[in-house]
Amino acid sequence: MNRKRYGKRKKLRKRKIKRLTTAYLRRAIVILIQIIMMILMVCGCLYLYERFTKEDEKVNKYTDLYTDLYTDRNAGNGIAPVASTENNAPGFCVVVDAGHGGSDGGTVSGKAVEKDINLSVALKLKAILENDNIEVILTRSSDENISLADRTSVANDSNADFFISLHCNYYEKDAQIAGLECYYNNSNATESKGYAESIINAVSLSEDIVTRYAKTEDYYVLRNTQMPAVLVEMGFLSNYSESQKLLDDDYQERLAQKIAEGISNEIKRGENL
Ligand SMILES: [Zn+2]
Repeated sequence: MNRKRYGKRKKLRKRKIKRLTTAYLRRAIVILIQIIMMILMVCGCLYLYERFTKEDEKVNKYTDLYTDLYTDRNAGNGIAPVASTENNAPGFCVVVDAGHGGSDGGTVSGKAVEKDINLSVALKLKAILENDNIEVILTRSSDENISLADRTSVANDSNADFFISLHCNYYEKDAQIAGLECYYNNSNATESKGYAESIINAVSLSEDIVTRYAKTEDYYVLRNTQMPAVLVEMGFLSNYSESQKLLDDDYQERLAQKIAEGISNEIKRGENL
């Protein structure tokens, strides 16, 4: 009798343990599934956030690269460029080209929008150069789309003596990189090289504007202008500190002042040759 009862109790205990184990297992599986779902949801949210916040920057970066480098797709969209003055006055004439405009914002980083910075510095540069008795023609004086072909036409049709295009840089792989760069078309373009180096020299004397180098690059506006021409990348919007400086009105004024000095120095050097 006793042995029978003992056996029955043992069976009951085993069944109870089995039941409990199954219940715990089931609960563990449910919790595991919940954790996996939460991880997937978080990953999904992060992916969407990355996608929608970085998309604009990427698009703008590549827009900039393609419009500047390969560019012919932008040529001749039929929109008339804006000349700030008639080019009838004697003396030295500079075409100042504020890169991008209208629907083409250029590179964008937070509040820093390239097309606006370019235009703001272009207007300041115009005022400084005119004060130095240099005639200035702007390719655009407001926020509007101007094709690259129209930009170079403004320079070529007016027989300008010098062309300068203003841009802001962006390098998504390294946010530490900062500094102004100045480009000329190729090593045969010695006059353009002279201006590029003169601008780098003048800007490098400034206390707070970082400079990098004068360098060759096959940009449309440099390739298709018939006079000495440079393209200035005034700083990197991908560098937070430099992007904040580029938004600052005083900094833009100092930048325009130094670029103007570089141009004037080179004009004087050319006259003395
Ligand atoms: Zn640009």
